[in-house]
Amino acid sequence: MNLTGQHFLGFERSGENPEYFTAINPATNEAFGVKYHVAGQNEINRALVKAEEIFTGYSEVTAKQKASFLNLIADLILEAGDQLIEICMAETGLANGRITGERARTINQIRLFAGLVLEGSWVEATIDTAIPERQPAPRPDIRSMLIPIGPVVVFGASNFPLAFSVAGGDTISALAGGNPVIVKAHPAHPGTSEIIANCISEAAKRSGMPDGTFSMLYDSGYNTGRLLVVHPQIRAVAFTGSFAGGKALYDLAQTRPDPIPVFAEMSSVNPIFVLPEALKTSAGSIAKAIAGSVTLGAGQFCTNPGLVFFIGDENTVKLPEFLGEEIRKSIPQTMLTPGIAGNYHKDVSHALADKNINLLMESAEASGQNQAKPVIALVSGAAFEQNKNLSSEVFGPFSLVVSCDSKDQMLRIARSLHGQLTASIFHDADKDLDDFTLLPGILKTKVGRLIFNGIPTGVEVCHAMIHGGPFPATTDSRFTSVGTSSIKRFVRPVALQDCAHSLLPPELRDDNPMGIMRLINGKRSNQS
Ligand code: NAP
Repeated sequence: MNLTGQHFLGFERSGENPEYFTAINPATNEAFGVKYHVAGQNEINRALVKAEEIFTGYSEVTAKQKASFLNLIADLILEAGDQLIEICMAETGLANGRITGERARTINQIRLFAGLVLEGSWVEATIDTAIPERQPAPRPDIRSMLIPIGPVVVFGASNFPLAFSVAGGDTISALAGGNPVIVKAHPAHPGTSEIIANCISEAAKRSGMPDGTFSMLYDSGYNTGRLLVVHPQIRAVAFTGSFAGGKALYDLAQTRPDPIPVFAEMSSVNPIFVLPEALKTSAGSIAKAIAGSVTLGAGQFCTNPGLVFFIGDENTVKLPEFLGEEIRKSIPQTMLTPGIAGNYHKDVSHALADKNINLLMESAEASGQNQAKPVIALVSGAAFEQNKNLSSEVFGPFSLVVSCDSKDQMLRIARSLHGQLTASIFHDADKDLDDFTLLPGILKTKVGRLIFNGIPTGVEVCHAMIHGGPFPATTDSRFTSVGTSSIKRFVRPVALQDCAHSLLPPELRDDNPMGIMRLINGKRSNQS
Protein backbone atom coordinates (compact mmCIF):
# COMPACT_ATOMS: atom_id res chain seq x y z
CA MET A 1 0.00 0.00 0.00
CA ASN A 2 1.02 3.63 -0.44
CA LEU A 3 1.52 5.34 2.89
CA THR A 4 -0.19 8.74 3.24
CA GLY A 5 0.49 9.84 6.82
CA GLN A 6 -3.24 10.49 7.29
CA HIS A 7 -5.39 9.64 10.28
CA PHE A 8 -8.17 7.05 10.20
CA LEU A 9 -11.40 8.69 11.39
CA GLY A 10 -13.53 5.59 11.06
CA PHE A 11 -13.47 4.90 7.32
CA GLU A 12 -12.53 8.50 6.48
CA ARG A 13 -8.87 9.47 5.93
CA SER A 14 -7.83 12.96 6.98
CA GLY A 15 -4.69 15.07 7.27
CA GLU A 16 -6.00 18.60 7.44
CA ASN A 17 -3.59 19.91 10.09
CA PRO A 18 -0.36 21.22 8.43
CA GLU A 19 1.75 20.23 11.48
CA TYR A 20 3.59 16.94 10.85
CA PHE A 21 6.43 14.67 11.94
CA THR A 22 8.45 11.96 10.16
CA ALA A 23 9.67 8.46 10.96
CA ILE A 24 13.26 8.15 12.20
CA ASN A 25 15.47 5.15 11.53
CA PRO A 26 17.17 4.64 14.91
CA ALA A 27 20.09 2.78 13.29
CA THR A 28 21.03 5.86 11.23
CA ASN A 29 19.14 8.73 12.89
CA GLU A 30 17.78 9.59 9.44
CA ALA A 31 14.23 10.77 8.86
CA PHE A 32 12.44 8.88 6.08
CA GLY A 33 9.07 8.25 4.47
CA VAL A 34 5.98 10.43 4.24
CA LYS A 35 4.88 13.27 6.51
CA TYR A 36 2.62 12.11 9.34
CA HIS A 37 0.04 14.75 10.20
CA VAL A 38 -0.52 15.73 13.82
CA ALA A 39 -4.20 15.35 14.73
CA GLY A 40 -6.28 18.51 15.18
CA GLN A 41 -9.13 18.94 17.65
CA ASN A 42 -11.64 18.78 14.81
CA GLU A 43 -10.30 15.41 13.67
CA ILE A 44 -10.29 14.05 17.21
CA ASN A 45 -13.93 15.12 17.57
CA ARG A 46 -14.95 13.51 14.28
CA ALA A 47 -13.42 10.17 15.28
CA LEU A 48 -15.08 10.28 18.68
CA VAL A 49 -18.51 11.36 17.47
CA LYS A 50 -18.46 8.39 15.10
CA ALA A 51 -17.37 6.02 17.88
CA GLU A 52 -20.16 7.26 20.14
CA GLU A 53 -22.80 7.06 17.41
CA ILE A 54 -22.04 3.47 16.49
CA PHE A 55 -21.27 2.19 19.98
CA THR A 56 -24.66 0.55 20.50
CA GLY A 57 -24.68 -0.86 16.97
CA TYR A 58 -21.21 -2.37 17.29
CA SER A 59 -21.88 -3.73 20.77
CA GLU A 60 -24.84 -5.67 19.36
CA VAL A 61 -22.93 -7.26 16.46
CA THR A 62 -23.27 -11.05 16.76
CA ALA A 63 -20.41 -13.13 18.14
CA LYS A 64 -20.02 -14.82 14.77
CA GLN A 65 -19.71 -11.51 12.89
CA LYS A 66 -17.25 -10.14 15.44
CA ALA A 67 -15.10 -13.29 15.27
CA SER A 68 -15.05 -13.03 11.45
CA PHE A 69 -14.00 -9.38 11.71
CA LEU A 70 -11.13 -10.27 14.07
CA ASN A 71 -9.99 -13.21 11.95
CA LEU A 72 -10.02 -10.99 8.86
CA ILE A 73 -7.75 -8.48 10.63
CA ALA A 74 -5.28 -11.33 11.22
CA ASP A 75 -5.54 -12.47 7.58
CA LEU A 76 -4.91 -8.95 6.26
CA ILE A 77 -1.90 -8.41 8.54
CA LEU A 78 -0.36 -11.56 7.07
CA GLU A 79 -1.24 -10.35 3.56
CA ALA A 80 0.58 -7.06 4.25
CA GLY A 81 3.68 -9.24 3.82
CA ASP A 82 7.20 -7.93 3.44
CA GLN A 83 6.25 -4.24 3.29
CA LEU A 84 5.13 -4.43 6.92
CA ILE A 85 8.28 -6.24 8.03
CA GLU A 86 10.62 -3.89 6.14
CA ILE A 87 9.03 -0.66 7.38
CA CYS A 88 8.84 -1.99 10.91
CA MET A 89 12.54 -2.93 10.84
CA ALA A 90 13.52 0.50 9.52
CA GLU A 91 11.39 2.33 12.12
CA THR A 92 12.43 0.29 15.16
CA GLY A 93 15.92 -1.09 14.53
CA LEU A 94 14.55 -4.55 15.39
CA ALA A 95 15.78 -7.56 13.41
CA ASN A 96 13.72 -9.40 10.81
CA GLY A 97 13.42 -12.53 13.00
CA ARG A 98 12.10 -10.55 15.94
CA ILE A 99 9.46 -8.72 13.86
CA THR A 100 8.37 -11.86 12.03
CA GLY A 101 8.05 -13.62 15.39
CA GLU A 102 6.11 -10.70 16.84
CA ARG A 103 3.78 -10.70 13.82
CA ALA A 104 3.04 -14.41 14.42
CA ARG A 105 2.37 -13.68 18.08
CA THR A 106 0.05 -10.79 17.14
CA ILE A 107 -1.90 -12.95 14.71
CA ASN A 108 -2.22 -15.81 17.20
CA GLN A 109 -3.41 -13.30 19.79
CA ILE A 110 -6.11 -11.99 17.42
CA ARG A 111 -7.26 -15.51 16.56
CA LEU A 112 -7.34 -16.46 20.25
CA PHE A 113 -9.78 -13.58 20.87
CA ALA A 114 -11.84 -14.54 17.80
CA GLY A 115 -12.16 -18.02 19.33
CA LEU A 116 -13.10 -16.58 22.71
CA VAL A 117 -15.83 -14.42 21.20
CA LEU A 118 -17.20 -17.27 19.11
CA GLU A 119 -17.31 -19.66 22.08
CA GLY A 120 -19.14 -16.94 24.00
CA SER A 121 -18.94 -18.06 27.66
CA TRP A 122 -16.60 -15.17 28.54
CA VAL A 123 -19.65 -12.93 29.17
CA GLU A 124 -20.17 -14.76 32.51
CA ALA A 125 -23.91 -15.16 32.00
CA THR A 126 -25.54 -15.75 35.39
CA ILE A 127 -29.20 -16.55 35.90
CA ASP A 128 -31.17 -16.70 39.13
CA THR A 129 -34.71 -17.63 38.17
CA ALA A 130 -37.72 -16.20 39.98
CA ILE A 131 -39.15 -17.93 43.05
CA PRO A 132 -42.61 -16.35 43.26
CA GLU A 133 -43.68 -18.58 46.15
CA ARG A 134 -40.67 -17.74 48.34
CA GLN A 135 -41.50 -16.47 51.84
CA PRO A 136 -41.42 -13.91 53.32
CA ALA A 137 -40.79 -12.23 49.92
CA PRO A 138 -40.78 -13.64 46.39
CA ARG A 139 -37.44 -13.70 44.52
CA PRO A 140 -37.45 -11.81 41.22
CA ASP A 141 -35.85 -13.22 38.05
CA ILE A 142 -32.34 -11.73 37.85
CA ARG A 143 -29.96 -12.30 34.94
CA SER A 144 -26.55 -10.69 34.57
CA MET A 145 -23.69 -10.63 32.09
CA LEU A 146 -20.74 -8.54 31.01
CA ILE A 147 -21.43 -5.80 28.46
CA PRO A 148 -19.08 -3.38 26.62
CA ILE A 149 -17.95 -0.27 28.48
CA GLY A 150 -17.85 2.18 25.53
CA PRO A 151 -15.23 3.83 23.28
CA VAL A 152 -11.68 2.94 24.39
CA VAL A 153 -8.46 4.89 23.76
CA VAL A 154 -5.40 2.71 23.19
CA PHE A 155 -1.88 4.17 23.36
CA GLY A 156 0.39 2.15 21.07
CA ALA A 157 3.57 1.04 22.86
CA SER A 158 7.01 1.65 21.34
CA ASN A 159 8.63 -1.60 22.44
CA PHE A 160 6.22 -4.02 20.75
CA PRO A 161 5.37 -2.31 17.43
CA LEU A 162 2.92 -5.09 16.56
CA ALA A 163 1.89 -7.08 19.63
CA PHE A 164 1.28 -4.07 21.94
CA SER A 165 0.50 -1.46 19.32
CA VAL A 166 -2.27 -0.72 16.80
CA ALA A 167 -3.61 -4.31 16.54
CA GLY A 168 -2.06 -5.42 19.82
CA GLY A 169 -3.73 -6.99 22.82
CA ASP A 170 -5.35 -3.76 24.04
CA THR A 171 -7.09 -2.96 20.73
CA ILE A 172 -8.12 -6.53 20.05
CA SER A 173 -9.47 -7.23 23.55
CA ALA A 174 -11.43 -3.95 23.46
CA LEU A 175 -12.88 -4.75 20.00
CA ALA A 176 -13.62 -8.34 21.09
CA GLY A 177 -15.51 -6.94 24.08
CA GLY A 178 -17.74 -4.89 21.73
CA ASN A 179 -16.11 -1.47 22.10
CA PRO A 180 -15.11 1.02 19.39
CA VAL A 181 -11.36 1.76 19.61
CA ILE A 182 -9.43 4.96 18.97
CA VAL A 183 -5.68 4.34 18.79
CA LYS A 184 -3.14 7.08 19.54
CA ALA A 185 -0.32 5.77 17.30
CA HIS A 186 3.17 5.70 18.82
CA PRO A 187 5.32 8.17 16.84
CA ALA A 188 8.26 5.72 16.90
CA HIS A 189 6.63 3.50 14.23
CA PRO A 190 4.11 5.56 12.25
CA GLY A 191 4.40 3.65 8.95
CA THR A 192 3.97 0.30 10.71
CA SER A 193 0.94 1.82 12.43
CA GLU A 194 -0.57 2.99 9.14
CA ILE A 195 -0.24 -0.44 7.51
CA ILE A 196 -1.84 -2.17 10.49
CA ALA A 197 -4.59 0.46 10.84
CA ASN A 198 -5.37 -0.07 7.16
CA CYS A 199 -5.76 -3.82 7.82
CA ILE A 200 -8.21 -3.16 10.67
CA SER A 201 -10.15 -0.55 8.71
CA GLU A 202 -10.35 -2.77 5.62
CA ALA A 203 -11.43 -5.77 7.74
CA ALA A 204 -14.13 -3.60 9.37
CA LYS A 205 -15.45 -2.49 5.96
CA ARG A 206 -15.41 -5.97 4.43
CA SER A 207 -17.09 -7.61 7.41
CA GLY A 208 -19.84 -4.99 7.66
CA MET A 209 -18.75 -3.32 10.92
CA PRO A 210 -20.10 0.22 11.38
CA ASP A 211 -18.06 3.28 10.36
CA GLY A 212 -16.39 4.42 13.59
CA THR A 213 -15.59 0.97 15.02
CA PHE A 214 -11.90 1.81 14.64
CA SER A 215 -9.97 5.10 14.34
CA MET A 216 -6.29 5.97 14.61
CA LEU A 217 -4.72 9.37 15.21
CA TYR A 218 -1.11 10.51 14.93
CA ASP A 219 0.79 12.90 17.15
CA SER A 220 4.45 13.27 18.06
CA GLY A 221 3.66 15.01 21.33
CA TYR A 222 1.28 14.75 24.26
CA ASN A 223 -1.59 16.93 23.05
CA THR A 224 -3.70 14.36 21.18
CA GLY A 225 -3.30 11.76 23.92
CA ARG A 226 -4.36 14.22 26.59
CA LEU A 227 -7.36 15.46 24.58
CA LEU A 228 -8.47 11.86 24.05
CA VAL A 229 -8.21 10.95 27.74
CA VAL A 230 -10.39 13.90 28.82
CA HIS A 231 -12.84 13.61 25.93
CA PRO A 232 -16.39 13.09 27.20
CA GLN A 233 -17.03 10.23 24.75
CA ILE A 234 -14.14 8.07 26.02
CA ARG A 235 -15.00 5.40 28.61
CA ALA A 236 -11.59 3.71 29.25
CA VAL A 237 -7.89 4.03 28.43
CA ALA A 238 -5.20 1.38 27.81
CA PHE A 239 -1.52 2.32 27.94
CA THR A 240 1.89 0.57 27.94
CA GLY A 241 5.04 2.63 28.43
CA SER A 242 6.87 4.71 30.99
CA PHE A 243 5.81 5.27 34.60
CA ALA A 244 5.78 9.03 33.97
CA GLY A 245 3.48 8.69 30.94
CA GLY A 246 1.12 6.14 32.46
CA LYS A 247 0.78 7.96 35.77
CA ALA A 248 0.23 11.34 34.03
CA LEU A 249 -2.59 9.89 31.94
CA TYR A 250 -4.09 8.11 34.96
CA ASP A 251 -4.05 11.35 36.98
CA LEU A 252 -5.54 13.26 34.07
CA ALA A 253 -8.45 10.82 33.78
CA GLN A 254 -9.22 11.33 37.48
CA THR A 255 -9.65 15.10 36.87
CA ARG A 256 -12.57 14.50 34.49
CA PRO A 257 -16.03 15.36 35.81
CA ASP A 258 -16.71 11.63 35.21
CA PRO A 259 -13.45 9.78 36.02
CA ILE A 260 -12.80 6.73 33.83
CA PRO A 261 -10.55 3.69 34.29
CA VAL A 262 -6.98 3.92 32.94
CA PHE A 263 -5.29 0.54 32.56
CA ALA A 264 -1.63 1.55 32.44
CA GLU A 265 1.16 -1.01 32.41
CA MET A 266 4.23 0.97 33.43
CA SER A 267 7.25 0.03 35.42
CA SER A 268 8.65 -3.29 36.62
CA VAL A 269 12.11 -4.64 37.45
CA ASN A 270 11.04 -8.29 37.62
CA PRO A 271 13.32 -9.47 40.46
CA ILE A 272 14.98 -12.87 40.31
CA PHE A 273 15.85 -14.77 43.49
CA VAL A 274 18.50 -17.47 43.12
CA LEU A 275 18.39 -19.77 46.18
CA PRO A 276 21.49 -21.40 47.72
CA GLU A 277 21.09 -25.02 46.59
CA ALA A 278 20.38 -23.91 43.02
CA LEU A 279 23.51 -21.74 43.17
CA LYS A 280 25.59 -24.78 44.17
CA THR A 281 24.35 -27.03 41.39
CA SER A 282 23.38 -24.77 38.48
CA ALA A 283 24.98 -21.32 38.74
CA GLY A 284 26.36 -21.54 35.18
CA SER A 285 23.10 -22.42 33.45
CA ILE A 286 21.12 -19.96 35.59
CA ALA A 287 23.58 -17.18 34.72
CA LYS A 288 23.22 -18.01 31.02
CA ALA A 289 19.42 -17.90 31.21
CA ILE A 290 19.38 -14.61 33.15
CA ALA A 291 21.92 -12.91 30.86
CA GLY A 292 19.93 -14.04 27.82
CA SER A 293 16.82 -12.46 29.31
CA VAL A 294 18.63 -9.21 30.27
CA THR A 295 20.04 -8.71 26.77
CA LEU A 296 17.08 -10.00 24.69
CA GLY A 297 15.79 -7.27 22.35
CA ALA A 298 18.28 -4.77 23.85
CA GLY A 299 16.49 -5.25 27.16
CA GLN A 300 13.45 -3.32 25.91
CA PHE A 301 10.84 -5.55 27.50
CA CYS A 302 8.54 -4.76 30.39
CA THR A 303 9.55 -8.17 31.79
CA ASN A 304 13.30 -7.49 31.58
CA PRO A 305 14.97 -8.73 34.80
CA GLY A 306 16.50 -5.65 36.45
CA LEU A 307 17.39 -7.18 39.84
CA VAL A 308 19.04 -10.50 40.71
CA PHE A 309 19.34 -11.54 44.38
CA PHE A 310 21.55 -14.26 45.86
CA ILE A 311 23.04 -15.02 49.29
CA GLY A 312 26.82 -14.86 49.71
CA ASP A 313 29.43 -12.74 48.01
CA GLU A 314 31.32 -12.82 44.76
CA ASN A 315 34.21 -14.66 46.44
CA THR A 316 32.08 -17.57 47.65
CA VAL A 317 29.45 -17.72 44.95
CA LYS A 318 30.12 -18.12 41.22
CA LEU A 319 26.91 -16.48 39.96
CA PRO A 320 28.33 -12.92 39.54
CA GLU A 321 31.37 -14.27 37.69
CA PHE A 322 29.25 -16.42 35.38
CA LEU A 323 26.84 -13.54 34.74
CA GLY A 324 29.77 -11.27 33.98
CA GLU A 325 31.15 -13.79 31.51
CA GLU A 326 27.83 -13.97 29.67
CA ILE A 327 27.53 -10.18 29.51
CA ARG A 328 31.12 -9.88 28.23
CA LYS A 329 30.17 -12.11 25.29
CA SER A 330 27.00 -10.13 24.49
CA ILE A 331 26.84 -7.42 21.83
CA PRO A 332 25.44 -3.87 21.76
CA GLN A 333 22.11 -3.51 19.93
CA THR A 334 20.21 -0.59 18.41
CA MET A 335 17.48 0.72 20.68
CA LEU A 336 14.00 1.70 19.49
CA THR A 337 14.38 5.48 19.52
CA PRO A 338 17.07 8.09 20.15
CA GLY A 339 15.07 9.10 23.24
CA ILE A 340 15.02 5.58 24.69
CA ALA A 341 18.77 5.16 23.97
CA GLY A 342 19.47 8.52 25.62
CA ASN A 343 17.47 7.53 28.71
CA TYR A 344 19.35 4.23 28.93
CA HIS A 345 22.78 5.85 28.86
CA LYS A 346 21.71 8.43 31.42
CA ASP A 347 20.17 5.85 33.78
CA VAL A 348 23.18 3.48 33.59
CA SER A 349 25.65 6.34 34.20
CA HIS A 350 23.55 7.46 37.14
CA ALA A 351 23.50 3.95 38.64
CA LEU A 352 27.26 3.46 38.22
CA ALA A 353 27.97 6.84 39.80
CA ASP A 354 26.68 5.47 43.11
CA LYS A 355 29.72 4.66 45.26
CA ASN A 356 28.07 1.47 46.53
CA ILE A 357 27.59 0.05 43.04
CA ASN A 358 30.43 -1.79 41.32
CA LEU A 359 30.52 -2.42 37.62
CA LEU A 360 30.63 -6.19 37.23
CA MET A 361 30.89 -6.39 33.45
CA GLU A 362 29.92 -4.63 30.25
CA SER A 363 29.96 -5.76 26.64
CA ALA A 364 32.23 -4.26 23.98
CA GLU A 365 31.64 -0.57 23.28
CA ALA A 366 28.74 0.34 21.04
CA SER A 367 29.76 1.43 17.56
CA GLY A 368 26.45 2.34 15.88
CA GLN A 369 23.83 5.03 16.44
CA ASN A 370 21.52 4.63 19.44
CA GLN A 371 23.06 1.34 20.51
CA ALA A 372 22.94 0.04 24.07
CA LYS A 373 25.78 -2.00 25.49
CA PRO A 374 24.68 -4.58 28.07
CA VAL A 375 25.90 -3.76 31.59
CA ILE A 376 25.73 -5.69 34.83
CA ALA A 377 26.58 -4.23 38.25
CA LEU A 378 26.89 -5.48 41.82
CA VAL A 379 25.65 -4.01 45.10
CA SER A 380 25.48 -5.38 48.63
CA GLY A 381 22.15 -6.17 50.24
CA ALA A 382 22.88 -3.61 52.96
CA ALA A 383 23.43 -0.80 50.43
CA PHE A 384 20.36 -1.91 48.49
CA GLU A 385 18.23 -1.75 51.63
CA GLN A 386 19.35 1.81 52.30
CA ASN A 387 18.65 3.22 48.85
CA LYS A 388 15.10 2.80 47.57
CA ASN A 389 16.07 4.29 44.18
CA LEU A 390 18.08 1.17 43.35
CA SER A 391 14.86 -0.69 42.58
CA SER A 392 13.86 1.78 39.83
CA GLU A 393 13.53 0.52 36.27
CA VAL A 394 16.43 1.07 33.86
CA PHE A 395 14.84 0.41 30.46
CA GLY A 396 17.45 -1.54 28.49
CA PRO A 397 20.04 -4.35 28.94
CA PHE A 398 21.07 -3.46 32.49
CA SER A 399 20.73 -5.54 35.63
CA LEU A 400 21.78 -5.00 39.22
CA VAL A 401 23.02 -8.08 41.09
CA VAL A 402 22.41 -7.89 44.84
CA SER A 403 24.50 -10.00 47.23
CA CYS A 404 22.47 -10.60 50.41
CA ASP A 405 24.25 -11.44 53.66
CA SER A 406 21.57 -13.81 54.92
CA LYS A 407 18.24 -15.45 54.31
CA ASP A 408 16.64 -12.88 56.63
CA GLN A 409 18.00 -10.02 54.57
CA MET A 410 16.77 -11.61 51.34
CA LEU A 411 13.28 -12.05 52.81
CA ARG A 412 13.31 -8.50 54.20
CA ILE A 413 14.21 -7.12 50.78
CA ALA A 414 11.51 -9.24 49.13
CA ARG A 415 8.97 -7.76 51.56
CA SER A 416 10.15 -4.22 50.80
CA LEU A 417 9.81 -4.43 47.00
CA HIS A 418 7.04 -2.51 45.30
CA GLY A 419 4.60 -4.06 42.81
CA GLN A 420 6.02 -5.96 39.84
CA LEU A 421 4.76 -7.74 36.74
CA THR A 422 6.82 -10.82 37.63
CA ALA A 423 9.27 -12.35 40.08
CA SER A 424 11.30 -15.53 39.58
CA ILE A 425 12.63 -18.07 42.06
CA PHE A 426 15.44 -20.37 40.97
CA HIS A 427 15.50 -23.31 43.35
CA ASP A 428 16.98 -26.77 43.45
CA ALA A 429 14.66 -29.71 44.13
CA ASP A 430 12.77 -29.35 47.41
CA LYS A 431 15.49 -28.27 49.83
CA ASP A 432 15.55 -24.64 48.74
CA LEU A 433 11.78 -24.40 48.95
CA ASP A 434 11.79 -26.05 52.39
CA ASP A 435 14.34 -23.50 53.59
CA PHE A 436 12.54 -20.54 51.98
CA THR A 437 8.91 -21.45 52.64
CA LEU A 438 7.97 -17.79 53.14
CA LEU A 439 9.43 -16.47 49.89
CA PRO A 440 6.72 -17.60 47.41
CA GLY A 441 4.00 -16.21 49.68
CA ILE A 442 5.77 -12.86 50.04
CA LEU A 443 6.34 -12.58 46.31
CA LYS A 444 2.76 -13.52 45.45
CA THR A 445 1.67 -10.30 47.20
CA LYS A 446 4.00 -8.29 44.95
CA VAL A 447 3.47 -9.67 41.44
CA GLY A 448 1.06 -10.71 38.73
CA ARG A 449 3.12 -13.78 37.75
CA LEU A 450 5.49 -15.82 39.92
CA ILE A 451 7.90 -17.97 37.91
CA PHE A 452 9.74 -21.04 39.20
CA ASN A 453 13.10 -21.90 37.65
CA GLY A 454 12.48 -19.63 34.69
CA ILE A 455 13.14 -16.17 33.30
CA PRO A 456 10.44 -13.49 32.98
CA THR A 457 10.79 -12.60 29.28
CA GLY A 458 8.60 -14.55 26.86
CA VAL A 459 5.03 -13.83 27.93
CA GLU A 460 2.78 -16.63 26.69
CA VAL A 461 -0.50 -15.41 25.20
CA CYS A 462 -3.11 -17.81 26.57
CA HIS A 463 -6.19 -17.98 28.76
CA ALA A 464 -4.34 -18.27 32.09
CA MET A 465 -1.70 -15.56 31.56
CA ILE A 466 -1.58 -12.65 34.02
CA HIS A 467 0.48 -9.72 32.77
CA GLY A 468 -0.29 -7.21 35.48
CA GLY A 469 0.54 -6.61 39.10
CA PRO A 470 0.30 -4.14 41.98
CA PHE A 471 1.24 -0.46 41.47
CA PRO A 472 3.55 0.77 39.99
CA ALA A 473 3.64 -2.24 37.63
CA THR A 474 0.09 -1.26 36.66
CA THR A 475 -2.60 1.14 37.80
CA ASP A 476 -5.05 -1.70 38.56
CA SER A 477 -3.74 -5.01 39.88
CA ARG A 478 -7.10 -6.73 39.34
CA PHE A 479 -6.55 -7.01 35.60
CA THR A 480 -4.15 -8.42 33.02
CA SER A 481 -3.13 -6.82 29.73
CA VAL A 482 -2.12 -10.11 28.08
CA GLY A 483 -4.27 -13.20 27.60
CA THR A 484 -7.99 -13.58 27.09
CA SER A 485 -8.87 -12.25 30.58
CA SER A 486 -7.64 -8.84 29.40
CA ILE A 487 -11.08 -8.40 27.82
CA LYS A 488 -12.43 -7.81 31.36
CA ARG A 489 -10.83 -4.34 31.40
CA PHE A 490 -13.31 -3.14 28.82
CA VAL A 491 -16.59 -4.63 29.99
CA ARG A 492 -18.84 -4.14 32.97
CA PRO A 493 -21.55 -6.29 34.56
CA VAL A 494 -25.21 -5.44 34.17
CA ALA A 495 -28.20 -7.21 35.72
CA LEU A 496 -31.64 -7.40 34.13
CA GLN A 497 -34.45 -7.91 36.62
CA ASP A 498 -37.78 -9.43 35.52
CA CYS A 499 -36.90 -8.62 31.92
CA ALA A 500 -39.33 -9.79 29.20
CA HIS A 501 -37.87 -12.86 27.49
CA SER A 502 -38.12 -11.23 24.07
CA LEU A 503 -35.82 -8.42 25.26
CA LEU A 504 -33.12 -10.68 26.67
CA PRO A 505 -29.80 -10.99 24.79
CA PRO A 506 -29.15 -14.53 23.43
CA GLU A 507 -26.65 -15.21 26.23
CA LEU A 508 -29.38 -14.87 28.88
CA ARG A 509 -32.30 -16.58 27.12
CA ASP A 510 -33.76 -19.77 28.59
CA ASP A 511 -33.01 -21.80 25.46
CA ASN A 512 -29.29 -20.82 25.52
CA PRO A 513 -29.06 -20.53 21.70
CA MET A 514 -25.25 -20.07 21.81
CA GLY A 515 -24.75 -23.13 24.03
CA ILE A 516 -22.49 -21.17 26.36
CA MET A 517 -21.48 -22.11 29.89
CA ARG A 518 -23.63 -20.23 32.43
CA LEU A 519 -24.24 -20.16 36.16
CA ILE A 520 -27.92 -21.05 36.61
CA ASN A 521 -29.27 -20.94 40.15
CA GLY A 522 -25.73 -21.54 41.43
CA LYS A 523 -24.88 -24.47 39.11
CA ARG A 524 -22.59 -24.28 36.07
CA SER A 525 -24.19 -25.59 32.92
CA ASN A 526 -24.18 -25.19 29.15
CA GLN A 527 -27.70 -26.60 28.87
CA SER A 528 -30.83 -24.57 28.20
P1 NAP B 1 6.27 6.85 26.92
O1 NAP B 1 7.09 8.08 27.06
O2 NAP B 1 5.61 6.36 28.13
O3 NAP B 1 5.19 7.15 25.79
C1 NAP B 1 4.18 6.20 25.44
C2 NAP B 1 3.04 6.92 24.74
O4 NAP B 1 2.36 7.75 25.68
C3 NAP B 1 3.48 7.83 23.62
O5 NAP B 1 2.48 7.81 22.61
C4 NAP B 1 3.54 9.18 24.28
O6 NAP B 1 3.28 10.23 23.39
C5 NAP B 1 2.41 9.10 25.28
N1 NAP B 1 2.67 9.91 26.47
C6 NAP B 1 3.71 9.79 27.33
N2 NAP B 1 3.60 10.67 28.34
C7 NAP B 1 2.46 11.35 28.12
C8 NAP B 1 1.80 12.40 28.80
N3 NAP B 1 2.28 12.91 29.94
N4 NAP B 1 0.66 12.88 28.27
C9 NAP B 1 0.16 12.37 27.12
N5 NAP B 1 0.73 11.38 26.43
C10 NAP B 1 1.86 10.87 26.91
O7 NAP B 1 7.11 5.65 26.34
P2 NAP B 1 8.15 5.59 25.14
O8 NAP B 1 8.10 6.83 24.32
O9 NAP B 1 7.82 4.36 24.41
O10 NAP B 1 9.56 5.41 25.83
C11 NAP B 1 10.05 6.29 26.79
C12 NAP B 1 10.45 5.54 28.05
O11 NAP B 1 9.36 4.75 28.51
C13 NAP B 1 11.57 4.52 27.86
O12 NAP B 1 12.84 5.09 27.93
C14 NAP B 1 11.29 3.54 28.96
O13 NAP B 1 11.89 3.95 30.15
C15 NAP B 1 9.81 3.57 29.15
N6 NAP B 1 9.10 2.41 28.59
C16 NAP B 1 8.78 1.39 29.42
C17 NAP B 1 8.11 0.29 28.93
C18 NAP B 1 7.74 -0.83 29.83
O14 NAP B 1 7.20 -1.80 29.34
N7 NAP B 1 7.98 -0.76 31.13
C19 NAP B 1 7.76 0.20 27.58
C20 NAP B 1 8.09 1.27 26.73
C21 NAP B 1 8.75 2.37 27.27
P3 NAP B 1 4.39 10.81 22.39
O15 NAP B 1 5.41 9.75 22.18
O16 NAP B 1 3.61 11.16 21.18
O17 NAP B 1 5.01 11.96 23.03
